[in-house]
Amino acid sequence: MANKKECEIVQDLLLNYVDGLLNPESKKLVEKHLSECEECRESLKLIQEDTKRKDNREQIELDYLKKIRIKSRIKSILIALAIILLIATIIFLNKFAKVTSIMSRAEKTLQSNNFYKETTQILYDNSTSVTKEYYKDGKYKYVWEIYTDEGVEIKKIEYANIDSDERTYIYETEKRVEIEKNNISKMKNKTNSIKNVPFVIGRNNLFANIGTTFVYSIDTDTYANGKKCYVLHNRAEKDKWEIRIDKETGLPIKQITRGGEKIFYQDTNVVKSINDVVEEYKYEFNKVTDEDVKIPDISNYAVENKTS
Ligand SMILES: [Zn+2]
Repeated sequence: MANKKECEIVQDLLLNYVDGLLNPESKKLVEKHLSECEECRESLKLIQEDTKRKDNREQIELDYLKKIRIKSRIKSILIALAIILLIATIIFLNKFAKVTSIMSRAEKTLQSNNFYKETTQILYDNSTSVTKEYYKDGKYKYVWEIYTDEGVEIKKIEYANIDSDERTYIYETEKRVEIEKNNISKMKNKTNSIKNVPFVIGRNNLFANIGTTFVYSIDTDTYANGKKCYVLHNRAEKDKWEIRIDKETGLPIKQITRGGEKIFYQDTNVVKSINDVVEEYKYEFNKVTDEDVKIPDISNYAVENKTS
């Protein structure tokens, strides 16, 4: 049986023994004593169990802290996502309101029963095409002119009535008339198809406006005459196309289709010109007279009847 003095020394060393901190000599001494002393073995067992419990508790506390940290991280990510979503929604609604305002303004403007529109387009051969549309109370006249340095040539004048299936084409220079019958009076939105305005026609409904909001970018610019206008681009092909819309009337004033035909200097690959298609539109209201939309005397013209 070991003596009390040795027991005291060994029990003092037991904590360090469990933690593996004893030098080999002391370790040997402790182990030798333990093999002989029941009481000290009991003490060792108690210390080991206590240590295990402590380790467990520390692990549990650590796990708890980790869980809290993960939870708070998820929370901040969700808050950030909610903020982004909120901002995106505000931007979308703001843009949607702009689109709706443009389209309803255009529709309102186009309800006019007296309406003149002029479209100018510079053609590749340095001539300019001008089309003039006169609309009054369901009747319209469409004049197509070509301007060159030699003067103006009227290519064609077209007359139509919204309630009639007949369209009359007058070719002034040839003293010739074509009368064409088709089913335009059965067409939906006849007035819109006659008021030949690009982009804004027939777009003023919820789904179209949502689509427009998604597809087009909308910037604001000042037009040459100092008026404010919107500049719309298809976001998928920003450099290819743009339309400028007057803020006041909601009507397009300029449309550019870029990257048209490239012309090269003869026998080279040097670009001489890039032919963008630029159309400009002018409008006037309440200036068209009955005379403007009335078919003139064509009794001495050659008349040709056509059905389509
Ligand atoms: Zn002992």
